[in-house]
Amino acid sequence: MIILTPDQIQMIRQHSEQDYPNECCGVVLGIFGEDGAKRAERLLPINNAREEEARYNRFLITSEDLMRSELQARRLGLDIVGFYHSHPDHPAQPSTFDLEHAWPTYSYLIVAVAGGVSAELTSWELKSDRSAFDQESIKEEEA
Ligand SMILES: [Zn+2]
Repeated sequence: MIILTPDQIQMIRQHSEQDYPNECCGVVLGIFGEDGAKRAERLLPINNAREEEARYNRFLITSEDLMRSELQARRLGLDIVGFYHSHPDHPAQPSTFDLEHAWPTYSYLIVAVAGGVSAELTSWELKSDRSAFDQESIKEEEA
């Protein structure tokens, strides 16, 4: 399970609509709770690093983005707990590309954007054998 505030969910939705018809992506900083739930504390929107023609269907976070996010997390006493990205005019289901580029433990939030308007928001965690994703619940809670 991942816990987000209503404002954070709104931020993800706004980012996805801003970057439509391209995919947007970002990093979720937060805390791994003892109960196994992750709590989001800070979102870091990332500029899509893919070339123009590939932007429509693939998000990419570069290693520089990741290092910068890691540093920022450490500065704030947080961890990277997950990533978010959008699926313009596609369902909020992980693609094969998503599966091949995911790491265990993290949450992968996907927001569908239908005709420029954000729609379903889902979250996924990779199985430990990396064969597939398990859907996880999203809890909306004030900080
Ligand atoms: Zn995807």
